[in-house]
Amino acid sequence: MTAVTVATGPDLPPPAGSAGGGTTNDAVRRQNLVAVLSELRLNGTLSRAQLSAQTGLNRSTITGLVAELMDAALVRELPAVPSTGKAGRPISELQVDDAVSAISVGVDADGVTVALIGLGGTVHARLHHDTARPVSPRRFVQLAVDLINVMRADIDRHYRVVGVGLAVPGLVDARGSVLVAPTLQWRNEPIAARMSDKLGMHVTAGNDASIGALVETRFGVARGTRNLLYLGGSLRGIGGGVIMDGTLLRGTSGYAGELGHTVVNPGGIRCVCGRRGCLEAEVDLSLIEPLLGRRRLDEDELDVELGVARDPKVMAEVARQVDVLSIALTNFVNAFSPELVVLSGYLGSLLSVSRERLSAAVRLHPLGAEGRVVRLERSRLRSRLMLIGPAELAFAPILADPTTAPRR
Ligand SMILES: [Zn+2]
Repeated sequence: MTAVTVATGPDLPPPAGSAGGGTTNDAVRRQNLVAVLSELRLNGTLSRAQLSAQTGLNRSTITGLVAELMDAALVRELPAVPSTGKAGRPISELQVDDAVSAISVGVDADGVTVALIGLGGTVHARLHHDTARPVSPRRFVQLAVDLINVMRADIDRHYRVVGVGLAVPGLVDARGSVLVAPTLQWRNEPIAARMSDKLGMHVTAGNDASIGALVETRFGVARGTRNLLYLGGSLRGIGGGVIMDGTLLRGTSGYAGELGHTVVNPGGIRCVCGRRGCLEAEVDLSLIEPLLGRRRLDEDELDVELGVARDPKVMAEVARQVDVLSIALTNFVNAFSPELVVLSGYLGSLLSVSRERLSAAVRLHPLGAEGRVVRLERSRLRSRLMLIGPAELAFAPILADPTTAPRR
């Protein structure tokens, strides 16, 4: 049997109760189960032969691992289709069982979103509640629990929900407590514990941009990237996630990557954090929306609006923000030396209308004339990113050790 090195991407805080110890054989088997499950998640559908080729494990090992994953009801076999090859044997293909699901919860200053996400990344259901202003942690938990209960009453019983993942635009520690979330005006909130008590389910919380960076390396445009700079722009704020050598940069207490509060214009626009000229205060959709005469545009609507905008006031403000973003990107590229920069949300829309300007900033300014190539891409997952992302937190224990998956 060949032991494989498992590329599971950067870690978020280690899942509670993840299994350790055991014999070396157990550890190797577990690692191989992880590898097979990861391949199926990334590729959608694979035959046993393809799994063998992808993982480097021999066919009989793959057969045993697949049987174990099917027994745990994490993987299912599709109805066999006749082979087009000469042998004429039907090929049976395998997929992750999307009935294994997690509840994803997102919160920002304008609302709460919950979704039911399959282990393979399918969005089974989605509900959103608009709020006129940021809600208190207590109110948020109540809203989220109500939405989850409505959603659960409406979905088929065959879904096996393994847990809840929550994305917060703020600093979140490993226990799921929010140290500070400026746009929500939350401070020192044990938000995961609060929600877990109300729901009676395990809740894992994390920073939204860290989750975005992680998901882009797993499912999105950054698949397989070892050094990534991710910047996500929502209606109220910019979050950053930095992955270096395959590991999410945490810094002291796990709070690295708060790039939205990098000062790019001293004496500029007042930021929610109290300083002036932070990136997220200067590059802000809410400064453009009034000029467009629109409110609460989603990413797709914004693409259309910016694509057809000819109003000089709009153009001037977009150009100003793109200039500021360029300065920030140049600094970040020099600081972190990523191979890829991914912009999502509002920043993805800015990239789509100013690709040349922003690409030039990333390309021309880094120190050293060695012609370092930094790619600049827009998030491919678009609006699905922050639905799929939080669910990854809830799936983390299963992904780290498939043998711990709760049985039917
Ligand atoms: Zn700030």
